Amino acid sequence: MKSVDEHVAGILDAIVPLPPRPLPLRSAHGCVLAAGLHAASALPGFDNSAMDGYAVHAADVVGASPDRPVTLPVTGDIPAAAGTPSPVARGTAARIMTGAPLPPGADTVVQLEWTDGRMDRVTVTRAPVPGQHIRRAGEDVAAGDLVLPAGRLLGAAQLGLLAALNVATPVVHPRPRAAVLSTGSELVEVGEPLGPGQIVDSNSHAVAAAAREAGADVRRLAGVPDSPAAFAAVFADILAGADVVITTGGVSVGAFDVVKQVLAGPGKVRFESVAMRPGMPQGFGVIDGVPVFTLPGNPVSALVSFELFVRPALLRLRGLASVRRPTLVVTTAHELRSPRGRRSYLRARLAASDAGRPPVAHVLGLQGAHQLSALAVADALLIVPEDSADVPAGTELTALYLGGDLPEFGGPQFGGPERGDPERGDPAVVDPVRTRARA
Ligand code: AMP
Ligand code: MG
Repeated sequence: MKSVDEHVAGILDAIVPLPPRPLPLRSAHGCVLAAGLHAASALPGFDNSAMDGYAVHAADVVGASPDRPVTLPVTGDIPAAAGTPSPVARGTAARIMTGAPLPPGADTVVQLEWTDGRMDRVTVTRAPVPGQHIRRAGEDVAAGDLVLPAGRLLGAAQLGLLAALNVATPVVHPRPRAAVLSTGSELVEVGEPLGPGQIVDSNSHAVAAAAREAGADVRRLAGVPDSPAAFAAVFADILAGADVVITTGGVSVGAFDVVKQVLAGPGKVRFESVAMRPGMPQGFGVIDGVPVFTLPGNPVSALVSFELFVRPALLRLRGLASVRRPTLVVTTAHELRSPRGRRSYLRARLAASDAGRPPVAHVLGLQGAHQLSALAVADALLIVPEDSADVPAGTELTALYLGGDLPEFGGPQFGGPERGDPERGDPAVVDPVRTRARA
């Protein structure tokens, strides 16, 4: 049997970032910059006021105080859209708004609060530091600066900077177009009535969502029947417009395992057993240049397989350098059993521990490959290595954190509330792993 790491390595070897192209900012959101971006112009583009107030010559207001105020005639009024303002002569002031260009001659801005705010003549009651409240051209970014390196993910701040620099179409790796295709003649689309023996197709929704969360644009095709002709036709159709294809179901040893029947063969998908649980039957291949993942049908197997194999591939297609989800060290709350020779990914909830101690992983009770309910409340996938069959309570293990951006459970260092808190409406932590279902 192939190890998880070998399978991941083989997949990543076959995948390169999608060719870069210019995209408008809205579409570039969440994409990765393909080349380092140098500023074509400076930021700020011109000297401007950092305050609402009066542009003055500092020398004219030396020593101003409430007892010895200085009064200057106001000769101009400069709003933010002022164009090129008229000069300020010695002994005069111009009212100026935040962001407005500094008028020639003035070297200092006195904020409104230090004045009486009048428009005909202004009385200044505090002496400014010469040069205060002026944002100098280029003090944020100088023309030619490398402002964003290649490989940078474009989020809110990066898009803001690009816009400020008047870059309308940064060159990025586009989002991968992922086609998600579920197979199974027993499947019914969500919301439709179920006949005897039928089940709702959950995989196509779950995997489509996982692919979107991994940054893909998703096309979902649900419930392709277990007929080789039907599957082959749908597959050929979706392959053309996809950067990656993800199927679920039909890859084990059943009589109607259509995905395997149609896609097995040289130059197509290689079907093999990966030493993991859940999710042992896996398939991967590159067909017409498109990576194709055939995930097992059991819903937890499908999502865990996605997490381990497809997500890193999507991140690489997007041009991200780091394709691994963050892991953390946890201690087990209770004794665990795991099949020797296979790496287990147990659905677990994490609870804060004492200061400086790793979070505690409570493995959820329903660990069957079909039991989505535990995955739906899990914070993490607890990794039990291949060589550990019996794991005592208190063992340190690695976990893949699924919960979000910042761990909330990490105790004082993160300061978050403890999981399993009834006040939060969390379901109680349940028994250690017992169920053993097939992958
Ligand atoms: P298979 O590998 O196709 O035999 O599927 C394994 C198990 O997963 C069976 O119990 C299927 O009914 C179930 N299954 C397969 N595809 C889906 C799906 N799209 N949604 C929910 N369950 C599925
Ligand atoms: Mg099936």
